[in-house]
Amino acid sequence: MASLWVPLYRRELSDITSSHYFHSQSSGQSMDPYTAAAPPTDEWEMEIDAIESPPPPPLLKEPPKIRRLDESVVNRIAAGEVIQRPVSAIKELVENSLDANSTSINVVVKDGGLKLIQVSDDGHGIRYEDLPILCERHTTSKLSTFEDLQSIKSMGFRGEALASMTYVAHVTVTTITKGQLHGYRVSYRDGIMENEPKACAAVKGTQIMVENLFYNMAARRKTLQNSADDYTKIVDLLSRFSIHHTNLSFSCRKHGAARADVHTVATSSSLDAIRSVYGVSVARNLMKVEASDDDPSSSIFEMNGFISNASYSAKKITMVLYINDRLVECSALKRAIEVVYAATLPKASKPFIYMTIMLPPEHVDVNVHPTKREVSLLNQEIIVGKIQSAVESKLRKSNETRTFQEQTMELLSSSPLVTRKDSHSSPSLPVSTGSRSQKVPVQKMVRTDSSDPAGRLHSYLDAKPLGEQESRNSLTAVRSSVRQRRNNPTEAADLTSIQLLIREIDSNSHCGLLDIVRDCTYVGMADDVYALLQHNTRLYLANVVNLSKELMYQQVLRRFAHFNGIQLSDPTPLQELIILALREEDLDPDSNENDDLKKKIAEVDWEEEKSCFQAVSAALGNFYAMHPPLLPNPSGDGLQFYQKSKPAGNPSDRESEHNSITHGFSFKSMNFEGNDKEMGDDIDEELLSEAKSAWAQREWSIQHVLFPAMRLFLKPPASMATNGTFVQVASLEKLYKIFERC
Ligand code: ADP
Ligand code: MG
Repeated sequence: MASLWVPLYRRELSDITSSHYFHSQSSGQSMDPYTAAAPPTDEWEMEIDAIESPPPPPLLKEPPKIRRLDESVVNRIAAGEVIQRPVSAIKELVENSLDANSTSINVVVKDGGLKLIQVSDDGHGIRYEDLPILCERHTTSKLSTFEDLQSIKSMGFRGEALASMTYVAHVTVTTITKGQLHGYRVSYRDGIMENEPKACAAVKGTQIMVENLFYNMAARRKTLQNSADDYTKIVDLLSRFSIHHTNLSFSCRKHGAARADVHTVATSSSLDAIRSVYGVSVARNLMKVEASDDDPSSSIFEMNGFISNASYSAKKITMVLYINDRLVECSALKRAIEVVYAATLPKASKPFIYMTIMLPPEHVDVNVHPTKREVSLLNQEIIVGKIQSAVESKLRKSNETRTFQEQTMELLSSSPLVTRKDSHSSPSLPVSTGSRSQKVPVQKMVRTDSSDPAGRLHSYLDAKPLGEQESRNSLTAVRSSVRQRRNNPTEAADLTSIQLLIREIDSNSHCGLLDIVRDCTYVGMADDVYALLQHNTRLYLANVVNLSKELMYQQVLRRFAHFNGIQLSDPTPLQELIILALREEDLDPDSNENDDLKKKIAEVDWEEEKSCFQAVSAALGNFYAMHPPLLPNPSGDGLQFYQKSKPAGNPSDRESEHNSITHGFSFKSMNFEGNDKEMGDDIDEELLSEAKSAWAQREWSIQHVLFPAMRLFLKPPASMATNGTFVQVASLEKLYKIFERC
């Protein structure tokens, strides 16, 4: 019922507001991410039908009386049309900030914009004298006569947006103009000020807060309940603004969030902005496109833009279109481009397009849509046709001279120090695609992803495919690191001694080593105790036994009193147990030698709390450290240990060699090349496989448990810099110089 009245009301309004209603019958119907609750054009066509041929009222003999609607009803209906959803309010507010010559625009959103929208800028502000009429309908500083519309450069011109917001939300404006000592704050409802403007502290510019959007439109609120959905649209809108207005900085964040979801600083080019907003993978796959015409008998325009190439693939088309610096939609142009992509690059038929079209202002009718999302162009068909051909010829050319770009990661995974020479960027592509990865000199390349097995030592040593096991491993790694985070109590036990010990750890931490530990990438095990790791362009050997011992020691202290306790029914004679354990370690358990020493070690000092806890923590640290397994490492020389018969050089050599052959067993078949037959006698396979799995398990734990945990928790003590725990073995720059000479 309400919507039936909109056109009637609009016909009574000024030319400006009514013209977009009539034009809209012929405008496109594409869904717009900002406004599309439903395509408004459809609705309007229905309304027009209803007005032009009303169904005959079956029972009424007399025509119903026509009444003038209450102004507040009219205003609310109109407001609902201008502000269709939170993102349309943000579009209006940001456009106001742009019109105010701002250089920085910041958006904060709560509950998808339903609870709060706040747009702050550093623009020219609003004069104190204008505040009383600021939010009345059709009050604007941008237009005075209808003719001004012909050459309008500002985004706004109808003076409707702020007014509309006050009819469907609570609006508060804080603003300060140049030269003023303080700003003013004032709230509005239904177009008018709720109170006199109050003097307040303010930073340069204007901040507009829109709270409880659609509080008085229950149906609208209901349809917008899914606030997450609108936030996505808001982020999308800000992204679109930021790649065009590259001399401004934008930010958009959820209320209370520390991180912004869109954050751009004034950049030098649109391509830089696209890279930072849409990502390197988009920017890398863009080509520059241009077209223009200045023949008054056909069309006058200039088009510049970026369009995606054959390597770009997405689920849906992204088209960011600016006409005379207005963010608009043009369904005819969008369709024309889609058709060309489908025909030329069927596999990349959902392109990314950023296009700007400039025309003489008098050739653009900006007033054809209530939210100004569509404009109508003089000679639109010709312009669309010309742009379509320009896009088509660009795509055809790029298809013929297609190049395959490489990324840093690919280089690393193929070989850490070797570049492939077959990649080059085509000179026909003005956009330097993948420029980032190519700019990194090879000697500066670093392993960036510690979870990626590529480039690790064992991928060279072990030819086995990394199948299911590897993926299961990484899953477990994630789980285990999550578990560790979850279990890491932020507060340690409330004991002075523990606090002191933790403080000692913190103050003794070596910041250079801490950097290495935090950002290093595990490369592989160099021998039984040393892991090779890369930090920036340097390679280090790190003693995993020392590191894990220290990590465990620190963790025990940090989690002190947070371990599950086990209650024993009888107290345990600790001293006796320790002596038993020490005897166990002796090679000759029956000898009583060193008994005194053992007793001394077993004496637990319960009196001195701090040293007692320190000793217990150190013992636990040592117990859980990544010691090499008891069985010798079966790779390399350690293999001898697994021979059943005596080692090489023995008189029984010949026979055992014969045996191994008759049993159909040879080392070569096991890929142990290099360990030749002299040594390759009968092997205790069971023991060997036990050893292999123990060593593999250890290496897996070092990589997936120790290193991730170290990155999170370890504070390496300064002593590790000098006691051989960390040894720098190479810097890639120097290595590269050596390789260059080879
Ligand atoms: P329009 O933009 O069509 O003029 P609005 O209702 O959006 O209408 O805004 C009304 C007027 O309020 C603008 O013409 C402008 O003078 C002023 N205004 C709104 N927002 C800002 C802002 N962020 N900074 C400075 N002035 C503003
Ligand atoms: Mg405006």
